[in-house]
Amino acid sequence: MEFRKKKSYEDIYKWHRSNNGTCFYCYEDAPVAAKLVGERGICQECLAHFRVGHVGTDRHVITHLTKGLRSHDETVAWLRKQSVKLAPNGEHNGIRSYLAINNLGIFDYYHDIIYGSADIAEVDEKTARKIMDSYNAIEIYQDGAIRICY
Ligand SMILES: [Zn+2]
Repeated sequence: MEFRKKKSYEDIYKWHRSNNGTCFYCYEDAPVAAKLVGERGICQECLAHFRVGHVGTDRHVITHLTKGLRSHDETVAWLRKQSVKLAPNGEHNGIRSYLAINNLGIFDYYHDIIYGSADIAEVDEKTARKIMDSYNAIEIYQDGAIRICY
């Protein structure tokens, strides 16, 4: 098996509890290149081919790969290079907030709900989950550190 981009939210802790390989991205028992949860994580092969698919699912790898970055702009550039679309969502004490978009089609379609001008109670539970899954709120600090809410 090979690296598979994560398209939707997947619980890495649930995977960790299961017996589904040592690599979260190919589910093989392969030497771990970067530990993500306990002793398990991502293998060398998957790390070499890694692309962000879902910011919430990929948060541990994103944190790992951006830890050497030293400024807000470097981290933003890294995310853009990974084709992650960022919608600015305010600034507080020099920490900038964004919505990192996982699914642009859904994000755009439900824009009014996401930005609070329409009520999420208007849609059914399954749609609500789909909307919540279409983006992750993130914060990028001046020193380049990133915090991903999921
Ligand atoms: Zn792998």
